[in-house]
Amino acid sequence: MDQPASPTPTGPHLRFENVSRSFAGVVAVAATDCAIAQGSFVALVGASGSGKSTLLKMVNRLGDPDQGRVIFEGRDVRDAPPAALRRRLGYVFQGVGLFPHMTVAENIGIGPRLAGKRASAERIAELLELVELEPEYAVRMPHELSGGQRQRIGVARALAGNPHLLLMDEPFGALDPVTRDGLGKRVRLLHERLGLTTIMVTHDMAEALLLADRVLVMDGGRIVADEPPQALLAGAGGDIAQGLVAVPREQAAALARLDAAR
Ligand code: ADP
Ligand code: MG
Repeated sequence: MDQPASPTPTGPHLRFENVSRSFAGVVAVAATDCAIAQGSFVALVGASGSGKSTLLKMVNRLGDPDQGRVIFEGRDVRDAPPAALRRRLGYVFQGVGLFPHMTVAENIGIGPRLAGKRASAERIAELLELVELEPEYAVRMPHELSGGQRQRIGVARALAGNPHLLLMDEPFGALDPVTRDGLGKRVRLLHERLGLTTIMVTHDMAEALLLADRVLVMDGGRIVADEPPQALLAGAGGDIAQGLVAVPREQAAALARLDAAR
């Protein structure tokens, strides 16, 4: 099939076409189709082992599909060298993965450095500012930071190459609820401000409902629900999605009852 050289402005920013991937006979992602519109904020939700990370890794070529293809900005991600591809997308890893022996500035600048460029001190300060950290943080080591600060460095690093697409794999998983809530809101604002397309993997349905425009639910390697938050709250998406929505809904109802009984 012909590949257009540049993205069609009306086409999806990212498209999974019948993608599958198995590990030693275990199906991680099964024949999945999905189109992600430019500028959308998509949450990918599902139980542990449902295939979320495997699906995300197909985009930045940390793991190619056995079958099907991933089209990003109008081209198969396998058509470009991984380094060129990774400049156009930012990736926040599950568990952050900062290099412990490198300063904050070196961690943030690792992408440009691998591409043979050096991020200037001004650029590092600008990226720190995006995640609301003072420029002085540039010389710190990762172990001198709180979990939330480390996670913000992970976001700054992902944004260093001015990506169009931001992929985040359980970015806030290990954080306390208050820090997590604050960072989620900050990332949503960055998404707007930088005009990004964002996909965030999370196992927390409340976080997905509150931050995303669209929620994809995975189960057993398949997307079993694909709905806006309001529709999920109104009961759409099927049993698995409703099972996940029931958790924050029941918590909210229990809190409301507790509050009313004061
Ligand atoms: P999630 O991110 O939703 O927790 P994953 O995509 O990591 O799920 O995993 C989906 C399935 O694929 C699981 O059964 C997992 O054990 C398996 N899997 C993922 N990565 C590997 C790997 N590198 N080697 C073997 N099995 C894997
Ligand atoms: Mg995962």
